[in-house]
Amino acid sequence: MENNIYVEAAKKSSFYKHLFSSGVQPDWNDIPFTTKQQLREADPYELLGTSLSNVVTYHETSGTTGKPSSSWFSYSDIEVEAAVLNNSALAFTENDLILNRFPFAVALPAFLVYWAAQKVRAGFISADQWNEVAPIPRVLDIMEKTKPTVLTVGPTELMNLYYVAKKLNKPLPTERLRAIVVAGELVTPARKRYMEKCWGVPVYLFYGSTETGGIFVSCEEGHFHLTHPKITVEVVDEKGQPAGENVAGSCVISTAREGMPLLRYFNEDYIEIKPADSCSCGCSSPVLMHYGRKDDLLNIDGQEKSLYDIHEIVYSLSSVPFIWKLQQRDTELYFLAQYEEEVNIAAIQQELSTALGNEVTVEQTILVPADSLIPNKPAGKFYYIEKLESTHI
Ligand SMILES: [Zn+2]
Repeated sequence: MENNIYVEAAKKSSFYKHLFSSGVQPDWNDIPFTTKQQLREADPYELLGTSLSNVVTYHETSGTTGKPSSSWFSYSDIEVEAAVLNNSALAFTENDLILNRFPFAVALPAFLVYWAAQKVRAGFISADQWNEVAPIPRVLDIMEKTKPTVLTVGPTELMNLYYVAKKLNKPLPTERLRAIVVAGELVTPARKRYMEKCWGVPVYLFYGSTETGGIFVSCEEGHFHLTHPKITVEVVDEKGQPAGENVAGSCVISTAREGMPLLRYFNEDYIEIKPADSCSCGCSSPVLMHYGRKDDLLNIDGQEKSLYDIHEIVYSLSSVPFIWKLQQRDTELYFLAQYEEEVNIAAIQQELSTALGNEVTVEQTILVPADSLIPNKPAGKFYYIEKLESTHI
């Protein structure tokens, strides 16, 4: 049975032991979904799929939507994780110098990039975004001085970097930069085009999660091909039954990752699987379309709009705001937008209302104050010796 590798990996995790306690292997479709809630409530050691001596790292989800859940990676998982990036169209090489802005805290993506870089002997600069000694102006300085070939960063932070570079009159793209890798948020074709227009280099999308690890890197056409050797993706309908190709539904992922195997994990993403012939890159594997989280579906006058639809509309506007938020107040729609240049708000309001098929009120506002992006003084270490001028005593 083709799903055997997932069952065999799961048998090593005490979290799944109850499924196999009768000695009879359950049919794949009878295996219940693993929910986010179950992972949040599980003891981390229940989820571990190998012995502690094989563990390379432990991570947790951000916990922004509740209690964080755990994730383990083993030394042999590193090989698979590195291959996801290095076998992709992006492919790091020994000639690359990667500037990483993903947080190194308990989050995962920075480690995936680091493991992949090590595997091919690429150079690596850690300037992670939660690191107080690496504020944006300093990162831009480092980029100017060291000329990295690849920048790895979250999509919102990428635009923060762009915005500060413009304010400080720094030219973009920086010399030698060949690609940007983004992860952690939905990036639709229009958003990708917009980021590429701002930065002037190709943007690759990296899809995955703390629980599952890295899953795909987009091809040259921006598509996620289902090529991961140890991950299988199902699309299910409202009743939990297979939705089939070309039908949007809920994403169910199984992974045979040694550190933490997952069986039929219902990750709350809204996806669709399309045949490969919809892509011109030459890859023959089916393509996963990611429409955002089910929670983000907006019901506008009986019409469902996914986060994907909304991103496509916003990033196709004649003037794209630096940062924005679509707010539904009862039945009224408001578009809160922070523009850094003069724009015709009436025209934007018209464009948005037409595209959404509903009246939208545009409010110009400050969502991210400029001061928060350009700190006055970076954090430093504590000094045990202090020398003061007489005027300060
Ligand atoms: Zn492709």
